[in-house]
Amino acid sequence: MAIAVYQGVDGAYSQLVLEHFMRERGIAGSTLGVPSYRELVTLLSSLRGDFGVIPIENAIGGTVREAYDLIGEFELSPVAEILWRVDHRLLGVRGATLRDVREVLAHPLVIAECGKFLAGLEHARAIPCEDTGVAAREVARGGSPEIAALAPPSAATLYGLIELAAHCADHPATYTRFLIVRPKHGSLPGLARASDARRKTSLIFAVEERTGSLARCLSILAESGINGDKLESKPYLGHGAERIFYIDFDGDVDDSAVAAALANLRSACKSLAVLGSYDAHVGEPVGTPAGVTPSLERVPEHRVVEPIIVQVESPFPRVARPSKPHGTVLRVGNVRIGDGEFVIIAGPCSIESREQILETAREVAARGAIMLRGGAFKPRTSPYAFQGLGWEGVTLLAEAGRASGLPTVSEVMTVDQVSRMAEHVDVLQIGARNMQNFDLLKAVGRAGRPVLLKRGFSATIDELLAAAEYILAEGNPNVMLCERGIRTFESATRNTLDLSAVPVLRERSHLPVLVDPSHGVGVRRWIRPLCRAAKAVGAHGLLVEVHPNPPEAKSDKDQALTFADFSEIVEDLAQIPIPLADLVRAGE
Ligand code: PEP
Ligand code: MN
Repeated sequence: MAIAVYQGVDGAYSQLVLEHFMRERGIAGSTLGVPSYRELVTLLSSLRGDFGVIPIENAIGGTVREAYDLIGEFELSPVAEILWRVDHRLLGVRGATLRDVREVLAHPLVIAECGKFLAGLEHARAIPCEDTGVAAREVARGGSPEIAALAPPSAATLYGLIELAAHCADHPATYTRFLIVRPKHGSLPGLARASDARRKTSLIFAVEERTGSLARCLSILAESGINGDKLESKPYLGHGAERIFYIDFDGDVDDSAVAAALANLRSACKSLAVLGSYDAHVGEPVGTPAGVTPSLERVPEHRVVEPIIVQVESPFPRVARPSKPHGTVLRVGNVRIGDGEFVIIAGPCSIESREQILETAREVAARGAIMLRGGAFKPRTSPYAFQGLGWEGVTLLAEAGRASGLPTVSEVMTVDQVSRMAEHVDVLQIGARNMQNFDLLKAVGRAGRPVLLKRGFSATIDELLAAAEYILAEGNPNVMLCERGIRTFESATRNTLDLSAVPVLRERSHLPVLVDPSHGVGVRRWIRPLCRAAKAVGAHGLLVEVHPNPPEAKSDKDQALTFADFSEIVEDLAQIPIPLADLVRAGE
């Protein structure tokens, strides 16, 4: 499955262009929106996306020079050009009318394209916005009839908006030229040149500041029978009055005549970058929806598009992804969880002594942990096993947290522990055995502290989400979910670490997801590979047990990591990239 990257969020024109290109070429895959063009080219050049789209020219606004410059700088290969006829509609919230509109959010190029239309909207002013998808999304989020967006009709359906006016561009034939680009060393089939395609080539070159130097360069092309398609210039900053030229022409660098002309051009100009050759767009621009005949004399229509809103009875509406599509970012002191950084919470299973917790705190802080864990009230299978230091342990944990600068997390086992624990630790942990202790969930929901909710070892994913809903329903939105292994027939490991829960939880819920491989496998040497897997599969972070001297640990000694183990894991994790989709901050 290919990953196709565009700048923007769902509903952007670039996304529509990518989907069109993928349909045309029979490429299966998904589109991924990123916040900026620079991020887009960086992803592609590091082979973390298969191809992408960049608008390079707008019929009204002219060349998008940043796009040419980035394609050159990151050495991407152009694949095909697509001319897309934009069809701007004015979208508002349900119940809004044209008369209500005071602000119109739109991409600056769209504002330029809809100048007359906007001038005719009394009392409304245009507000530039980074892309069309964001404009539509903000209108939906704001919920005000006074704010509208200029966006394609598909964005109305996507964000549940209505059309207040159709075909808003001043000129019905306005279009944008997009270039599909791929990494130079990418290998996705389906991106090869189409056999019958007319080819085009794009160049950037700089000429000496001398009379006739541009004319000489152009005549080299003309003498070779090359038909220039477009020429544009900008100052060559830092080089006096010299200028940089962008030129597109018919032909392919692999044609011998073109190759010879480029060799001559290279010697005639000061510098030359060949962006590459690509399939030219043939025929009229695409993208105009069937049945729409743009007209210069059109009057804004008032038409309602029924949004697709699926009402589902959900047992966890507050926890479900749609209630916060862009994800919860949990803040604990200076720490942020769920914000695109992969974080590690570390510390001993049990707090055993002042020295033990202070040393562990110091060491894990120095080696990259962002939060200190430690159990004071331990849920042990045997009543004769070490039960934890209780409140004395909580005091020691708080001291170690202050000394190391790390926020702290510790388990609460009963309702009557909650408020006192909340005074001393930063995050309240609900252990696997208590995941469905509903009174306890309600109590932590009211305690005013973030909650780390562990999955019960015989709980389904939906039961975990419903347990989180108890906490949110009490008014506490700050919950992180933790997969810590479930009980299966497998006995080689302490539990079965259900890493498949991570993408499922990420899809179903907006809450951050942690993985606890320590309790998942229970064996020190298997924790390291599972840490890598947890990051690769899309978890937001880890919870791991670390002890100064594992053989002496009073609980869970087989799974306790040494400080050296912990460092190796941190180093390993630096080699694992955060999954692509998490780089999408979607304008948040
Ligand atoms: C723990 O984190 O030490 C613990 C007891 O975990 P769980 O509730 O997942 O068994
Ligand atoms: Mn433990």
